[in-house]
Amino acid sequence: MPMLLLDRVVRRYRQGADALEVLSGASMALHAGEVVALVAPSGTGKSTLLHVAGLLERPDGGEVYLDGEPTSSLSDDARTALRRNEVGFVYQFHHLLPEFSALENVALPQLIRGLPAPQARERASELLSYLGLGHRLSHRPAELSGGEQQRVAIARAVANAPRLLFADEPTGNLDPVTSAHVFNTLTRLARASGLAAVVATHNLDLAGTLDRRITLRDGQIVDL
Ligand code: ADP
Ligand code: ADP
Repeated sequence: MPMLLLDRVVRRYRQGADALEVLSGASMALHAGEVVALVAPSGTGKSTLLHVAGLLERPDGGEVYLDGEPTSSLSDDARTALRRNEVGFVYQFHHLLPEFSALENVALPQLIRGLPAPQARERASELLSYLGLGHRLSHRPAELSGGEQQRVAIARAVANAPRLLFADEPTGNLDPVTSAHVFNTLTRLARASGLAAVVATHNLDLAGTLDRRITLRDGQIVDL
């Protein structure tokens, strides 16, 4: 059974008097440990797809199944709880808290979830070391390179051990070598933990390093 299944998902936005249908029956399956590249031009609905798949937005039609269970009938609270436990997000800009160290930024989601501080710091330290940032624990975001900042953001996104990760142009702001490093980090995490990820990117070379490639065409998901 796929971890995540999108079945003919529809998503529309109201734009003045009109409705724009961004997703028109988008279907895909995502399995544990798989890292999928989502490659499509701007404005075709990549962010919308990631938000619906990540339970941030509700579809207007179709269904999103997690472990075979439909999610559309869940209450907002239940969806939020599920998202907190199971889903991580990474964006083009890292959104790290500037006053906090790398370690504190990664420990924070675990503290919010109720883990005692020593354990949260321990896991944050292990995770950052695993991602090659063991020598950067006490650095603030401004003291890190762009690639390091993005790897801290990835560590933060997976700090609570989600099973799904959605990354929206995570290297849109980075040079090619640094971008490759960030992609490698995502793949390594997925291999090690069974994390399933969808990574929206414009970079076809990098997309080629992931397990498979999909795109959006007329609101539907097709293989590349
Ligand atoms: P992408 O990530 O591929 O650039 P988006 O999913 O952000 O695409 O947006 C797809 C289309 O939906 C765009 O035309 C955008 O203007 C529109 N859109 C996205 N979010 C909203 C919203 N909240 N309200 C109205 N229109 C939206
Ligand atoms: P990565 O591939 O992880 O992004 P880079 O090749 O960009 O790493 O940077 C290598 C090293 O150069 C970093 O470990 C960092 O110490 C230093 N560095 C790069 N950019 C900056 C910056 N803006 N401020 C401080 N140090 C930086």
